[in-house]
Amino acid sequence: MTTEAPTIALLGTGTMGLPVGRNLLKAGLPLRAWNRNPDKAAPLADAGATIAASPGDAVSGADIVITMLYDADSVAEVMTQAKDRFAPSTTWIQLTTVGVAGAQQLAELADELSLVYVDSPVLGTKKPAEDGALVVLAAGPDEARPTCQPVYDAIGSRTIWLNRPGDASKLKLVANAWVIAVMEGLAESLTLAGALGLDPGLFLEAVKGGAMDAPYVQLKGNTMIAGDWTPSFGLSNADKDARLILAAAQSAGVDMAITQAAHDYFNQAIDAGHGDKDLSAILLAHRGG
Ligand code: NAP
Repeated sequence: MTTEAPTIALLGTGTMGLPVGRNLLKAGLPLRAWNRNPDKAAPLADAGATIAASPGDAVSGADIVITMLYDADSVAEVMTQAKDRFAPSTTWIQLTTVGVAGAQQLAELADELSLVYVDSPVLGTKKPAEDGALVVLAAGPDEARPTCQPVYDAIGSRTIWLNRPGDASKLKLVANAWVIAVMEGLAESLTLAGALGLDPGLFLEAVKGGAMDAPYVQLKGNTMIAGDWTPSFGLSNADKDARLILAAAQSAGVDMAITQAAHDYFNQAIDAGHGDKDLSAILLAHRGG
């Protein structure tokens, strides 16, 4: 790598990838972006990015490749499409939530492609991504840290470095089990309040500012009551994460009753056509809709 700012290839400009790209540009990092649906990458051109026509065109000559796609299979598919175009020893910052087995699968792919793989899932949703306030969970070779840190600083407020490969993806699942448990609990309390003839807003008012409260509870509780399902964290994505959590828990011999219940409600919501809505639409499944 030269002493100039490294050139970054960003593969995936969905809900999270687009603001990640904007913050990389704001930090002065040269960016080439690619998305399967090119319309979603186009806004980054106005902010100074080069829009690539294929994953190969995006990664060609890049110092760092970032993936922010759906799951391990979509990441593997896109990286394989670019396989002959990587510069030797390119650093691969993998932000997608892929779970434990997925992180291992992608580490093996990185070896095949001679890339330096840094497992880097993120905590935080659309708004923290827009604010450059994600928490990056990172695990990779020590030598990759100086290359990765300017990227993490551009997109996040904090980086937690973990020493063992794969531990970042494990911690991501642990954190998302909590997110899913909060959403499942909120959906139950709001549904119970309504069924008992109470204004569901009374629940949020009762816990507000106390030890039982959390900013996420107020944020999501209010949007659920308002029926605002604009996706920050899509319900189908959350269901994918529930599956990854259940798979990891099963191999570790742990029972995850709340995640299992949420997974069942997510599936009901998906069957009812709510997969593209925010994960808070789990409430609709609780209400039987
Ligand atoms: P999203 O808005 O649904 O975007 C998904 C991206 O993946 C899009 O760019 C989509 O391309 C692409 N994609 C999906 N399947 C593909 C395939 N087979 N080949 C090529 N591209 C494919 O999801 P998101 O919210 O940005 O989430 C991205 C990742 O971050 C997921 O793993 C998610 O679990 C994780 N995450 C999300 C949040 C959150 O709050 N949203 C927070 C932390 C982590 P198209 O546009 O062409 O469909």
